[in-house]
Amino acid sequence: MAYFRMTQMALKWAISKPATNPYPFAPRVIIPGSRGLLTFNKDTCVYCSVCRKKCPTGAIGVNRHQKKWAIDRLRCISCGYCVEACPKDSLALSTSHGSPAVTKDREIYQGEMPAPKAPAAAPAPVPAG
Ligand code: SF4
Ligand code: SF4
Repeated sequence: MAYFRMTQMALKWAISKPATNPYPFAPRVIIPGSRGLLTFNKDTCVYCSVCRKKCPTGAIGVNRHQKKWAIDRLRCISCGYCVEACPKDSLALSTSHGSPAVTKDREIYQGEMPAPKAPAAAPAPVPAG
């Protein structure tokens, strides 16, 4: 009886569709709301460091004075805490995933630096006399 049951199950699994996706032979099915690669918009960022403080893995670095924002992709766990905390909506989690990395490089973004202030005009000379 046990052999019959086992054969029945083996036949069932042999002819049924696999429960998993045959990636990479078939395109990946993206589930709505799935969290992938963190994207950054340097045009709206004000370099406030809120995202850096909220990140539980220390993946983000921010330098307010130099207007630099950096991420260590291998540390990011796509939790979305930084996205929720950003006051300028500069961060988002896309549904795509990045390429596999072979080095631990940080991605660094440089914001627009303000133009240097022009030197103040010299006061007009006071006429003698
Ligand atoms: S929280 Fe938003 S605005 Fe502030 S530094 Fe991070 S990305 Fe920029
Ligand atoms: S998604 Fe999470 S782990 Fe990734 S940078 Fe944002 S806060 Fe850090």
